[in-house]
Amino acid sequence: MAVVEHGALVTRAGSIDWIGEEASAPAADQTVDLAGAWVTPGLIDCHTHLVFAGNRAGEYAERLQGASYEDIARLGGGILSTMRAVRVASEQQLFDESAPRLEALLAEGVTTVEIKSGYGLTLAGEAKMLRVARALGREYPVTIKTTLLAAHTVPPEFSDRAHDYIATIADEWLPALHSDSLVDAVDVFCEGIGFNIAQAERLFAAAKELGVPVKMHAEQLSRTGGTQLATRFDALSCDHLEYATAEDAVALARARTMPVLLPIAHYCLGGKQIPPIAAFRSCGGGMAVATDCNPGSAPGTSLLLAMSMATRLFGLTAAEALAGVTRHAARALGLGVETGAVGSSAQAGRAANARRARCGELAVGAAADFVVWNVSAIEELGYWIGFNPCRQVIRAGRVVS
Ligand SMILES: [Zn+2]
Repeated sequence: MAVVEHGALVTRAGSIDWIGEEASAPAADQTVDLAGAWVTPGLIDCHTHLVFAGNRAGEYAERLQGASYEDIARLGGGILSTMRAVRVASEQQLFDESAPRLEALLAEGVTTVEIKSGYGLTLAGEAKMLRVARALGREYPVTIKTTLLAAHTVPPEFSDRAHDYIATIADEWLPALHSDSLVDAVDVFCEGIGFNIAQAERLFAAAKELGVPVKMHAEQLSRTGGTQLATRFDALSCDHLEYATAEDAVALARARTMPVLLPIAHYCLGGKQIPPIAAFRSCGGGMAVATDCNPGSAPGTSLLLAMSMATRLFGLTAAEALAGVTRHAARALGLGVETGAVGSSAQAGRAANARRARCGELAVGAAADFVVWNVSAIEELGYWIGFNPCRQVIRAGRVVS
């Protein structure tokens, strides 16, 4: 993390035009004196499921009594419970229920949010969720990246036919939703209670065919080896990773696939296993941190709380947590400032994408998304719990709060 003391930045047409020490700043049409306040890039929540209906507080109460997440899922609760609520919800109802969660993220300085589908589990249901995510991006001052997560669990229509379900997503739903410009990435829940490696590979091959980047919920409740597969497909990110190994960390760094840590889910599930942080750190590829906002395992709408938990529960430094919600989160969405060597066509596509709309850093040419904080030390960002030190948010060069 580089700190510019007595800094200044100049924005033009929504981008950062100049950044450096105030004493050498060029003349500008209009100046705003921030009186020495700390400024960071706009925060990026790179893993959420924030479009959903209803909630699962009852399941949380059951888990407190000893039921496991897997037990509840096998009995038809869990993701299927939210699926039932989402299927009967109108698009307007989904928007109205999801908007307050997005507002809570934005109030803390978030300017970019990833939103996954995965509770419709029909073509129409997934399309409805993705349209709501896009609508949120039009109504609020935020960049929304959508991810198709139809491969979240097997819906009742495909009971005991997971293979057929994956084939349907790969051959029918993904091409249709992609042609409607609703899909920025494809994700799969690779897990004992989710989908296996062969099924994930089938889906990733279809995504590759269409040039859509992939992501994976990997090694969360057990080690499936999904990370090794995802890195062979140049995945943007592998997320959760509690059961990942040092070998997985090496594969992630080699493929420039970002590990995404989701400590709120770890906390709410009462997890005992933590991701191999030391291995990620020694590989030097960085780590992102996100809320995983969802009604089952992580009913959280505070990225600052996720930073706090990433430091206390997983052992990240304050600087790593801040990079995790800015620079590294941007890379997990293909929005990072990446100028490194290009090793494959998927990576070339990623680099081109990064040049168009990079964010997550205060750098010339990046989006003018930044936050002014009421803090005297930057470490306060992962320190306060339930207190919001965000003073002002600027997105694309405009004050939005
Ligand atoms: Zn998730």
